[in-house]
Amino acid sequence: MTLALPFVDDDLRTRLAAVHARIDRATADAGRSQGDVTLLLATKTQDAGTIRAAVQAHRALAVERRLLLGENRVQELVAKGPALADLGLPYHLIGPLQSNKINAALRWADAVDAVESLDLARRLAERRSGRYADLDVMVQVNVSGEATKHGVAPDEAAGLATAVAALDGLRLVGFQTIGAMSDDPLVVRAGFAALRAVRDEVVASGSPGTAGAVELSMGMTGDLELAIAEGATVVRVGTAVFGSRT
Ligand SMILES: *Cc1c(COP(=O)(O)O)cnc(C)c1O
Repeated sequence: MTLALPFVDDDLRTRLAAVHARIDRATADAGRSQGDVTLLLATKTQDAGTIRAAVQAHRALAVERRLLLGENRVQELVAKGPALADLGLPYHLIGPLQSNKINAALRWADAVDAVESLDLARRLAERRSGRYADLDVMVQVNVSGEATKHGVAPDEAAGLATAVAALDGLRLVGFQTIGAMSDDPLVVRAGFAALRAVRDEVVASGSPGTAGAVELSMGMTGDLELAIAEGATVVRVGTAVFGSRT
């Protein structure tokens, strides 16, 4: 009897190995341990078959790094969720959520990482309270202040997070940001440091539900090393794994 090994796409494997090597190096340079950083595959525009192939390639590499999947758009979450459910990986919504799409999102999202208003948090909480396990959420902070970016302003972030953490039905697990669009690594790093400062303030506050809000989801293909240097616990990578989106 021959064992059927899953087909592993060589390009995906090569690119994933390179991403893991980047994360390993940055983690070591920061004096942190390898298990501290989780890889979230940002799968927007990729079809379910490609995502599955990437997960299989990751598993074939046998690296000890937790893997998550993330979609920006509810529409893609709903379209691919059914085909990916058997992989058993947490599927995160990492993009903005409009209130008319909450029910659709909650059918497939295991976590909502871009909560940017108390109104949205309350609507999510209403649907989860007392009915299911608490929903994992992150508060998204706009650390760069760029007008095109979603998220709450840094000086309002701790207040929002504290209010979100107190809601029944939600479990505040941390914070997400998108780094500044700048060629200056000092500027990008300062933004990531600002997210860490918000996290530290909230966790130290002692407010109900904040003790576990430790995750920092920051860093993408272009800036993951800077994010890891500033304490990222989740890096979200698309292009470096799947190639550029055309
Ligand atoms: C697309 C996307 C990523 C990944 O970006 P890459 O530069 O392709 O690695 C990460 N986070 C969010 C919110 C995204 O939309």
